[in-house]
Formats: sequence, C-alpha cells, structure tokens
Amino acid sequence: MTDILRIAIQKSGRLQEGSLQLLKETGLSFSNGKDQLKAQARNFPVEILFLRDDDIPQYVEDKVADAGIVGENVYIEKQKNNALIKRLDFSKCRLSIAIPRSDTYEGIQSLNKKNIATSYPVIVKNFLDKHNVTAGIHEISGSVEIAPGIGLADAICDIVSTGSTLLSNGLKEVQVVMQSEAVLIASPQLTETKKQILDKLLFRIDAVQSAKNNKYILLNCPNEAIEKITTLIPGMKSPTIIPLGRVGWSSLHSVVNENDFWEKIDLLKSFGAEGILVVPIEKMIA
Ligand code: ATP
Ligand code: ZN
Repeated sequence: MTDILRIAIQKSGRLQEGSLQLLKETGLSFSNGKDQLKAQARNFPVEILFLRDDDIPQYVEDKVADAGIVGENVYIEKQKNNALIKRLDFSKCRLSIAIPRSDTYEGIQSLNKKNIATSYPVIVKNFLDKHNVTAGIHEISGSVEIAPGIGLADAICDIVSTGSTLLSNGLKEVQVVMQSEAVLIASPQLTETKKQILDKLLFRIDAVQSAKNNKYILLNCPNEAIEKITTLIPGMKSPTIIPLGRVGWSSLHSVVNENDFWEKIDLLKSFGAEGILVVPIEKMIA
C-alpha cells in the first residue's frame, strides 16, 4: 500500500472554510459531507480528517494525523511536538487584553496583581513573564468576555476581530498580545514518502499564494516607453511585447505585485500606457 498524508482540518468554525478552499485550490478533489469524519482525496495521496481545531496539535503529536491546519494561537498555546511549516494567510486575527471601559490603562504594568481570564493561559503567561508582570491567570474555555462583568476577573485575553463583542460587554482593547493567522503544522518525524507528499502540496500552496499576491497586467504603449515600462514591471522573466496594428505602438503583458500595484499604475500612465487591463492569476509557478 502506498503511503498517504493525513491532514487534519477544523470540523466547523472560523478556520474551516479557508482550509477547505486552500486544499481545493491546490487541486485536491474530495467530498466533504456534513458529519463526515474523514475524506480521501480522489486524485492525490491525501486523507482529510475533520476534527476540533484545539485537538489537532495533539493528534499531530500522536501521529493520528501527519499534518494539520490550525490558528497560530492554538499552535503556540498547545506546545506540542509540531513543526510550523507555513503561514497560510487566512483567518487573521489578534489576541488582545481587554479591560472594563471605565478602568485606566497605563501600559503593561497596569496588569500587575490583576486577574486575567483567558482560554490561552500559556500565551498570556509567556507574555506577562516577558514583561516582568505578575498577574493571576484564570483559564476558562468559552465566553471569556463576560468574566469581568460577573466579577471573575479584572481583565481578559481573547481573540479580537471587530471589537464589537468587547463593546457589548463593556470592555476595551488595551494591549495586543499576538497576531495570528492559519498555519500548516506537521509532525517533525514524517516518513520519507509522507515528506514527499507534503513537499508536493507545499509547492502547490506556494503557487496558489503567489497567484493571489500578483496580477496579470496588459497595456498598450508607445514603443519609446517599452524600456521604462519594462524596468517598472519586469514580470517573471521579462514582459511579453506584441506589436499593435497601429504603427509605433505595442501591447505589453507582465505580472505586477498586488501591494505596489496602484503606485505603479500611476507611473505607467505617466509613461504613456493606455488601455490597462489587470486580471487575476489562478496559479503562478516561477
Ligand atoms: P471552539 O473550538 O470552541 O469552537 P474556537 O475559538 O477555537 O472555538 P473558532 O472561533 O472557530 O473556534 O476559531 C478558530 C480559530 O480561528 C482561532 O483559533 C483563531 O486562530 C481564528 N479566529 C478566531 N476568530 C477569528 C476571527 N474573528 N477572524 C479571523 N480568525 C479568527
Ligand atoms: Zn477551537
């Protein structure tokens, strides 16, 4: 029997959609019915296990799963024998300390001798230690934000996205403890075959990620501008240049990074570029 790589993803919750989408974009075809525990990819030696995200680091340590997708916050909190393989650029959030709105905060030292409720005791402890602050930590597993209101704690440390949950509980965010995003973790002791499958998958994830960060750009320009434009948007090797029917003009095709895209568009226009089209790229392999 040939080896397969077992990848654990969240059964339901905020990581699930992004995880499924990423695996599908890497070309894996599998069915994921409701209440299903696992699914075998039809066209790749991968089996997907649907588990509670908080349990995934332990399953990877126990080798029930070979790899998994979890929030970086969970990876750090659990301190299991997992290797962080890759940050995945979705489910971005931050773990922050919040206190009652009427309380004052004058820096981390304000937390001295306070009680902090959290589902992330390890992360909070490390953070406080790093800043030489001594505080009590109350581990609770859900609805952390109600703790100050019921007199259980003076502060909380929890995931914040919009802040509206904090607001409705009379709290304010005062301190970011860590930024998090979905990460791919794996057992540090994979067999050679499993490692090869993981490498293939990583290659595909890279192609999907580069494609997301780049756009395909097509424009018309006077021939005199080709050199300047090529310096600005060199693309992967060099732009493709096709003569236009109109004498003295060319169509130039290249790739541009999403981040400096708007800035470059302005320059391109100033160089005489016209009819600029920018289209998404599905996969990009350098
Ligand atoms: P449970 O497992 O008990 O259902 P949970 O908080 O672990 O609760 P989710 O709310 O699905 O489960 O969150 C899973 C992960 O998604 C978190 O560990 C975090 O990394 C990330 N996450 C949480 N909230 C957000 C958010 N609002 N935006 C983006 N990512 C988030
Ligand atoms: Zn969870």
